Amino acid sequence: MSLREPESMDECVYFTKRAIGPGKAKAWVFKEQCPKCKKAMMGKPVEKGKVKIRAKEYVCPNCNNTVEKQAYEDTLTCNVQYVCPACSYSGETQTPYKRKKIDGVPTIQVECEKCKAKINITKKMKAAGESKLTAGEGEEEEE
Ligand SMILES: [Zn+2]
Ligand SMILES: [Zn+2]
Repeated sequence: MSLREPESMDECVYFTKRAIGPGKAKAWVFKEQCPKCKKAMMGKPVEKGKVKIRAKEYVCPNCNNTVEKQAYEDTLTCNVQYVCPACSYSGETQTPYKRKKIDGVPTIQVECEKCKAKINITKKMKAAGESKLTAGEGEEEEE
């Protein structure tokens, strides 16, 4: 499998790079076309030139079709490139962009293709004390 990588953050709903123990993961979710007019990418509403990151809906800039945030995100695919923290295998996978709670933290979980270890990409928490390796954050959502 060869995943398409984003050329710019504008293409993504979500982008993150994480160090996971001795391994690492990069995850991204592409915006998808408006299901109604199929002429533009759905995005967060823009007001006076500023993107409303906390908006609870996505809007089509072409036809103004509005989809509730969760309903839209549930249809998206999360692309994950990883180096497995358990066996050092480098792999790529895709998973639905749906977070499940692991230890109370919303997490995108994928499995190492080789050793089946679980690789957790947790939602970034403010006080988590993440290392500098996680720089390069895109439009990480905050709620
Ligand atoms: Zn549209
Ligand atoms: Zn592994």
